[in-house]
Amino acid sequence: MSWKTYPKVELHLHLEGAAPPQFIRGLAHEKKIDIHKVFNERGHYAYRDFVHFLQVYEAATSVLKTPDDYARLVLAVAEQSAENGVVYSETFVSPDFCGGGDVAAWRDYLAAMQSAAAEAEAKMGVTLKGIVTCIRHFGPDMAKDAALCAAETAGDFITGFGIAGDEGKGKPKDFIWSFDCAREAGLRLTAHAGEWGGPQSVRDAVRDLGVERIGHGVRAIEDLALVDELAERGTVLEVCPGSNIALGLYPKWQKHPIEKLRERELKITVSTDDPPFFHTTMTREFEELERAFGWDDEVFGQITRTALDAAFCDAETKARIAKKLEPAA
Ligand SMILES: [Zn+2]
Repeated sequence: MSWKTYPKVELHLHLEGAAPPQFIRGLAHEKKIDIHKVFNERGHYAYRDFVHFLQVYEAATSVLKTPDDYARLVLAVAEQSAENGVVYSETFVSPDFCGGGDVAAWRDYLAAMQSAAAEAEAKMGVTLKGIVTCIRHFGPDMAKDAALCAAETAGDFITGFGIAGDEGKGKPKDFIWSFDCAREAGLRLTAHAGEWGGPQSVRDAVRDLGVERIGHGVRAIEDLALVDELAERGTVLEVCPGSNIALGLYPKWQKHPIEKLRERELKITVSTDDPPFFHTTMTREFEELERAFGWDDEVFGQITRTALDAAFCDAETKARIAKKLEPAA
């Protein structure tokens, strides 16, 4: 069946990484920036491998410069989400790209994004929230600036704090100060781990940063004791199967560990990460999961409710979104 209109909750989406290629092309054209190399002949983002992906990603998102660019980006991304039945979405945003970690500049970007999110909610029926992320390979000092920006603007829109970027650089413990700062400001916590790093990277993130969610975390499957520990603790995984397959972490959908993790009663959710880069959408994720593992209404209903439970928004928003999920329940 087509899962396009099925109401969905997405917890792991990088705002810049969700930029539709046509939006980036339009912006590049307006600004007279030549980025034709990032697209293939069909106009999609094109890259050869993970390192090249990072370069293409950086080149594509280099056209995003002003608060107004980010407001337009929020609307373009919300439109894609709404088209795929997403009713609630948490997007990663980074002060490093929005004002360079300066709190006053960050407030300007945030105000623009927040008013665009309100417009998207009114016009398209998709509720967006922001999770401030620091970038691991930029190091602990820049992470502190990001955490301070997050702490200063914690509230209705900014509900969480996390860390993304190259898992090969530094250790979670280098970022303890930033996560403590965000926690004290009332923000909820997540961290990318267990994608390029093995099970130990997941253990480290949970122990050192005290996160309640893990971005990816799929490589926990290589250590079943860890899987059981995470299940017991109630840690939620933001699994992005299409992303893992596009980047070659697993050769095909049937080989992705999401079903094994679910069978072992780990709390799992499904997201798209950087959807146009991985030629995916939330609809496609659902379709491929149905094809690979026979997932049906019941399973998708369960993971959608898990995602809403694990969302970082307030109780009132959750109650409102829960009503939209009723056809799925
Ligand atoms: Zn991610």
